[in-house]
Amino acid sequence: MIGLPRHNAAFCKPCFIGYVLDQVAKAIKHDRMFSKDHRVLVAVSGGKDSLALWNILLKLGYRADALYVDLGIAGYSTRSREKVIRFAATTAEAAGATLLQHEVKEEEGAGIRELAMLVHRPTCSACGTIKRYQFNRAAIEHRYDVMATGHNLDDEAARLLGNVLHWQEDYLDKQAPSLPASVDGFAKKVKPLYRLTERETAAYAVLNGIDYVVEECPMAKGSKMLLYKEVLNRIETESPGTKQKFYCGFLDRRSSTEPAGTSMTEKDRAALRPCPTCGQPTTADLCSYCKMMSRASRVASPSARF
Ligand SMILES: [Zn+2]
Ligand SMILES: [Zn+2]
Repeated sequence: MIGLPRHNAAFCKPCFIGYVLDQVAKAIKHDRMFSKDHRVLVAVSGGKDSLALWNILLKLGYRADALYVDLGIAGYSTRSREKVIRFAATTAEAAGATLLQHEVKEEEGAGIRELAMLVHRPTCSACGTIKRYQFNRAAIEHRYDVMATGHNLDDEAARLLGNVLHWQEDYLDKQAPSLPASVDGFAKKVKPLYRLTERETAAYAVLNGIDYVVEECPMAKGSKMLLYKEVLNRIETESPGTKQKFYCGFLDRRSSTEPAGTSMTEKDRAALRPCPTCGQPTTADLCSYCKMMSRASRVASPSARF
């Protein structure tokens, strides 16, 4: 039996799997994420959420391929890549899906740890910049209609808490389960697992025999996100359902005040132009990815400065 205190319910194995598939199907429909005609690119990390997402989308009959970005984190990247390759070989390829792989070290000449040190940025933020850039570029180049990530209810509630605590209104505007392709050159982004908790996606992965990396990324140690998750879990234990009420309450309030996905783009849209180095749209002189890479290469070889 799998107990779900927030729904005041308990499920047996087949019913639980049915519940999970149903929640994802509802999310896709409710937020108009994609249809069976669309080509979906799933961002997989080797963790439970992204592999469960890929598995669920294939079970629901969607055309879902996946991209793995190897960030070159010693040990961790190797282990997570192995899990992704195994899942692709044992499950996804049989369903007609393809795994794309990309290595940051190969392309940029250094792993994420070295790059972050060179540009003096916290590794997780450098990692976020690289992943966003690589996934968007792959989605556009390989002509996918939409990019899906494995963010679950815990991730979104923790992010919302962080954004509210610091009143980051720009980020609040952009926090939605479905972000439209704002302009040419930006892929549409969706989060089909946003109605499921971390515990639920983990249970789903285990019940389906999905082998995933259990360890957190070593670079995420001490991150604020983990703290926010811990706090929310403490509240959830005392009063089940709070996490969901918090995040869904935010979504409900927003959708009643403004149509989804327009406010975020209007402001930026006017200022967007292609990055002179890579061609991806940006509001700055150089996109944040190219800025970071050019800084890294300047520091690495000072002679290249002039
Ligand atoms: Zn049952
Ligand atoms: Zn660029």
